[in-house]
Amino acid sequence: MTFKELKIIDPILKALDEKGYENPTPIQEQAIIPVLSNNDLLGLAQTGTGKTAAFAIPIIQQLYQNKIVGKKREIKALILTPTRELAIQIDECFNDYAKYTGLHHTVIFGGVNQKPQVEKLKHGVDILIATPGRLLDLISQKYITLNHIRHFVLDEADRMLDMGFIHDIKRLLPLLPKQKQTLFFSATMPEMISKLSKTILHNPVKVEVTPVSSVVDTIEQGLFFVEKPQKSELLVHILGKEKEKTVLVFSRTKHGADKIARILNKKGIGCEAIHGNKSQNARQRALTNFKSGKTRVIIATDIAARGIDIANLGLVINYDLPDVAETYVHRIGRTGRAGQSGAALTFCSSEEYTIIKDIQKLTGKKLNTVSVSI
Ligand code: AMP
Repeated sequence: MTFKELKIIDPILKALDEKGYENPTPIQEQAIIPVLSNNDLLGLAQTGTGKTAAFAIPIIQQLYQNKIVGKKREIKALILTPTRELAIQIDECFNDYAKYTGLHHTVIFGGVNQKPQVEKLKHGVDILIATPGRLLDLISQKYITLNHIRHFVLDEADRMLDMGFIHDIKRLLPLLPKQKQTLFFSATMPEMISKLSKTILHNPVKVEVTPVSSVVDTIEQGLFFVEKPQKSELLVHILGKEKEKTVLVFSRTKHGADKIARILNKKGIGCEAIHGNKSQNARQRALTNFKSGKTRVIIATDIAARGIDIANLGLVINYDLPDVAETYVHRIGRTGRAGQSGAALTFCSSEEYTIIKDIQKLTGKKLNTVSVSI
């Protein structure tokens, strides 16, 4: 199937062509036509499946086709996403796909001065990408009204729940007009999320791509039993062997991420840590360095790493195990994207063993134990 067959209009086709996208991904094939027909959508999909374009393209197209010339610009589409990194990435997608449509968009998120964001809003935007806290903040300061929203996207709903945003969302929902299109995306469907989706969607079209197990299928997974004090030594050993690969190391805590970075730097392994205690600028800089290949190793907490979109990520290392099995799948899904092979290594101490069982149950795969002599 081609984008043309999905009835995408020329200004968007031109932009997609420039991006080098030849064909739609499976979620785009399934979602674009129903969304263009103004249906609500329930999308079960992870980052890496092309889901951003799956909602961005049909929203841009609908706004372009219903453009009212000469009227003051009001926010007509709202994309709500849990993290600043995701918000920035989504905004970049709108930059790309909407460039020939004359539509205006902007992104707002917390942790930075609100002034530049408010200035952009004052110029008038059609599409707003936002994290929940800053959005509520700017609404209460009367810089934003949601009265004209026609398209609402709730992105990464399960992650919103994990991050404690559910109350913010419940405060936001009544501020949206009743008559609107809602697109709801989540990688997993815990009970709370399923309930929430039922309360806000009307006869949604359901699309589901790459279920957890098939994502995991393309990734080579290894498990090391190693006690905490020996983990850093093992990490240094592996990084010494995997010299060619770009590596994302997951730490459970911010403090832990900094500690790992210090140890690696001492050993002469160039790396950077990203987590919520670092300024937005420092995080962006670290990501840019990593993407450009300047640094080969990045150490991240789950929240900071959420949505990091890096092509050719060679290896994911779970230095610590996450608290829930779903997070493991999110983490290792950062490698092995778009059909490329990927690898994920997990360091498990005796305290962490119980979660391994949950992971194996969720993925339906036994993790192979690797032994190593350092
Ligand atoms: P997402 O799941 O939205 O984070 O997208 C994952 C990656 O796939 C991003 O780097 C997109 O730029 C890329 N992508 C999205 N749609 C396509 C497509 N149709 N062809 C090739 N790459 C795509």
